[in-house]
Amino acid sequence: MTSVVILGGGPGGYEAALVGAQLGGEVTIIEREGLGGASVLTDCVPSKTLIATAEVMSTIHRAEELGLRVWETGEDSGVASSVHVDLARVNERVMDLAAAQSADITEKMRTQGIRVIKGTGRLNGTEEVIATGADGTEETLKADITLIATGTTPRELPSAQCDGERILNWKQVYNLTELPEKLIVVGSGVTGAEFASAYDELGVDVVLVSSRDKVLPGQDEDAADVLQEVFEGRGMEIMSRSRATAARREGDEVVVNLQDGREVRGSHCLMAVGAIPNTSGIGLEEAGVQVTESGHIVTDRVSRTTARGVYAAGDCTGVFALASVAAMQGRIAMWHSLGDAVSPLDLKAVSSNVFTSPEIATVGVTQAQIDSGEVRASVLTLPLKSNARAKMQGVHDGFVKLFCLPVTGIIVGGVVVAPHASELIHSVSIAVGDRITVDELANDFTVYPSMSGSIAEAARQLHKRRASGMPY
Ligand SMILES: Cc1cc2nc3c(=O)[nH]c(=O)nc-3n(C[C@H](O)[C@H](O)[C@H](O)COP(=O)(O)OP(=O)(O)OC[C@H]3O[C@@H](n4cnc5c(N)ncnc54)[C@H](O)[C@@H]3O)c2cc1C
Repeated sequence: MTSVVILGGGPGGYEAALVGAQLGGEVTIIEREGLGGASVLTDCVPSKTLIATAEVMSTIHRAEELGLRVWETGEDSGVASSVHVDLARVNERVMDLAAAQSADITEKMRTQGIRVIKGTGRLNGTEEVIATGADGTEETLKADITLIATGTTPRELPSAQCDGERILNWKQVYNLTELPEKLIVVGSGVTGAEFASAYDELGVDVVLVSSRDKVLPGQDEDAADVLQEVFEGRGMEIMSRSRATAARREGDEVVVNLQDGREVRGSHCLMAVGAIPNTSGIGLEEAGVQVTESGHIVTDRVSRTTARGVYAAGDCTGVFALASVAAMQGRIAMWHSLGDAVSPLDLKAVSSNVFTSPEIATVGVTQAQIDSGEVRASVLTLPLKSNARAKMQGVHDGFVKLFCLPVTGIIVGGVVVAPHASELIHSVSIAVGDRITVDELANDFTVYPSMSGSIAEAARQLHKRRASGMPY
């Protein structure tokens, strides 16, 4: 039997373990915190559970526009002001749900005959892994195949150390039992924007400190513009081109220093300034596994590292910090190493979502690639304002954007900015993955009224251009 040892029990690791066992490998997974990894215990699952609560608050905020009032028609009879957030309960639910999800994964491992070691793993050359338990006991494991899926750790500024009480990283926010009076979010990337959006919806006074011109650098600019407008419209203070250099506590306050000498004061601060890979001290260099300057493991498209028999998957490779990509890299590693049919990782069809309100979902080619001339594609943007369902639901912001090849009309990418964009993007993902044309997409039925109707309508309008003699 081929022995497979996996370091790290996040989606990169546990999804690989399942495939490894399915293909007849003798699989051991070493995880120091809990199965599901950071994804399930502290990052993806908890944040999306918190956001689910925030989303309900956001719906409640729209209630009055839709004609809902509370019974007592006193002076302050707004629906939103009648609901308060019990953050202790919210966070208890978040953590319970994460623990339950981790337990489900552990049970799945057990039923598949996968050995789970609670401890820290490190390579001992390319054919052995040493597992160290919490009590310091060591076990040396034979490893025909090793998969490194050790994830990342939040980056901290030396001058803004997180204390878990008022200066927090994204793993520590669930310690809060009461809503912060004023939350300073440092970093306007996906994580910063998601937490800023969620706390704002929960009724917290949020200041978003961004070193860039606007929120969500690297995302579709039109989508980022919508989000920035929505945030500002809701009263959030966005400090653009403001680089935070330090954070300290002063009594019940947190003071964040900016590079230009200004100070921002709040009750709490969330640092969301990126992550560093968990790749040091695990025997990579000695085993001949090449890492980049940032510490990420170099892999090819079938997850091989530069060391024979050693594979890597997930955030520690720096390929795409998404649970779905980590899982796919892990599965590919097993398919390849255990001799099953395998297609190399294809990043062109990865769909991803920013869970802000509204959500921003993207797939395939980007507007930036088209604008730079790297890809020739036609673009059509349809604001949601014209969508009947959006009007009915009191949704005012958002759009659907489709990219297609100019001659054939094959859909190569798209962006959806809408509530539940993460669900709506799937039809565009299928179109991109299966090389469906705008005509084919337009000719399939959508429900009336529905937000997805706008996706079909965008495809139809791209056809209209063609019919009037223009390229798609
Ligand atoms: C706040 C936040 C929200 C996110 N939301 C989403 C989302 O909605 N959708 C999405 O697709 N992605 C999301 N992501 C990204 C997603 O969480 C990561 O892409 C995913 O966790 C990567 O999986 P992984 O297996 O590489 O690593 P992880 O999930 O980080 O797991 C790695 C595990 O390895 C363990 N480990 C480390 N070193 C060792 C060692 N030497 N021995 C044993 N164990 C070790 C760690 O304890 C950890 O449990 C989010 C990230 C953050 C920060």
